[in-house]
Formats: sequence, structure tokens, C-alpha cells
Amino acid sequence: MACLSWTALIPSAGRIDLDSPAETIDRLTNLDFPMRGAIAALHGEARRIVDAPLCLSAAREILARVPEGGVVAILTGFPEFPWIRRGVAETDGPVGPCEPHFAPVIEAAVRGIGLVPIPAAGLDLKSLHPGDPVCLIEATDEAVDAERWLAVRGPALVIAIERPGRSVTGAYHNMSGRNVSHCLNNFEDLFIEAESRGIWTIGIGDGGNEVGMGALQAVVRAQVAAGSACGCGCGGGIAAVSSSRSLVTAVVANFGATAIAAMLALLTDDREALPWPALELQSLDACVAAGAVDGQHNECVASVDGLAADAYGAVLELIADAVDRARHRRSV
Ligand SMILES: [Zn+2]
Repeated sequence: MACLSWTALIPSAGRIDLDSPAETIDRLTNLDFPMRGAIAALHGEARRIVDAPLCLSAAREILARVPEGGVVAILTGFPEFPWIRRGVAETDGPVGPCEPHFAPVIEAAVRGIGLVPIPAAGLDLKSLHPGDPVCLIEATDEAVDAERWLAVRGPALVIAIERPGRSVTGAYHNMSGRNVSHCLNNFEDLFIEAESRGIWTIGIGDGGNEVGMGALQAVVRAQVAAGSACGCGCGGGIAAVSSSRSLVTAVVANFGATAIAAMLALLTDDREALPWPALELQSLDACVAAGAVDGQHNECVASVDGLAADAYGAVLELIADAVDRARHRRSV
């Protein structure tokens, strides 16, 4: 589990036109570049529910919910090769928490983006200074007591990015319907417990089988391959049932997180809130060097859900360009 201190995110939107860049980035990040087939239906339903650009809605909630120095807990880690021991971390998603076998990749991702990964075990959160560029990573195979975990860390926000979510049968699946339950600890309980306690939650996913995508269940069952019949033998489909307060879809889940960061940069007038594309590519390279694999073809190369680094980076550049264009327009 990772806890990030987010500071200096003070709203000062000024006269920036948010609707236009938000709409552009929302559409861009939900275009089916890798031709995976599911995102149009998922995004259409999410937009119907949220009734606004998803990234803008989530970013506004972050700023409203997280005080200066507040704790944000992030759940991530999606297993590939589930038939080999407990799976191998994929390149989409990683900044956060984890089972110990995902920790090296998540630590590498954090380091690649310029933050310092710190083992959380035994560390008092109060010993951190607001603004410290660190990410606490709690790697454990021991089942967590969600109520106690939340009481001790006191997160203002819990985010799940590309983290498998339980289906109606209780089994966890990858998009092709394979059962990955044995690869995972019970971290999803933190998200569900946070939801029930009124702690704000953001679910970011690209297939409808991730934590927080429960509002999309009907669409997943009807329109996503393996949505209603996984074939793993559990008797259900891959649709995740846990719901989130802010629902964010993207064709590659990482893009959903980047889209939110883009909106934070505009809302706070702090360009640094959006990582430079080169930094994100550096993070991708670091993940791969630590053994992460692409979620679509499973090769250990700089690629995310089938998008090679050049194409992946091009989308990040377009997001950054939309932000810079909006900021420039305000100043002219
Ligand atoms: Zn199943």
C-alpha cells in the first residue's frame, strides 16, 4: 500500500477554460488506440453516470477532499502470467501497493517518476514533512484488517488504479477471464471499507474487471468479452462489483491517472502536477528493467497494453499539449 502526501494543490483556476481541455483529454484517453474492444462501451456508460469529463470530475473531488499534507492511499498491481507462481506485474498501473512479488516493479515506477520509494513498515506517517517527494510502499502478504488499517493511516482519499476487483462470485479475473485470485492479497477490502465509511474513492480502470468499476457491471456483462462468462469455472464473469465515488475509465488505465493529473495542473495552475512525458517514459523503462511485462502480449519490453513506448508517449504528449494550450490561452 502506498501513501502519498499531496501538498500545495491549492485551487486557483483563474480564468482557464477547463471544459475544452477536459473534454479533449477525456476523449483522447478513451480512444481505442490498442484496439482492445471494450472501452467505447465502458466510457459511454461512465460518461452517462458522471455526466461530465471523468478526469475533471475526479480532479475536483481530489482538491475538495484532500487537505494540505493529507494522506492518499493508492492500490495497484495487476498480475500477468498468473499460471507462473503468483504472476508478474504488468506495466499498466504501478504506483502503489502491493504484494511483495509486485514490490520491485512498483518501487521502480516510483523511482522512475522522481519520487523516493520508502518501505512503510514501522514508519510513523507523522514523521514525514508535507511535500516530501516520497511514496510509501507497504508490501505484505498478510491479510489486512481494513478497519484498523484505515484508522491508523487516516487517508483522505483511496485510489485504485488497474487493480483487479472481485467479481460477483468472489473470484478475481484478468480480461481474458483467467482466475488471478491466488496472485492477490485482500487490499480491495481497504477500498470497500473506505467507501462504506464515506472516505472518498477513485476507481481507474480500462476493462471493467478492476476495483471500483462496479457501476459498469451491466455494460461489462453485456458488451465485454468474458464479461458474463469468464470460463475459469467460478460460474460468473469478469465484471468487478466494488463501486467508487469517482469513476474514471481510459483505454489504458495509466492514461486515466495522467488525465486526472492534467486536470490538477489546470485547476491548481501548477504545471508540475502533471509529470512530463519523458518522466513517465523513464518510469516505464524502470518498470521494465525491474521485470514488468506488457499486459497484452506479456513481453518484457517498454510497452503498455500493447502500445509501444513511442505510441504511449505520443498520447502523453497530446495530454501535455492540451494542458499547455489551455494555460497559454488564459494568459493571452
Ligand atoms: Zn471466474
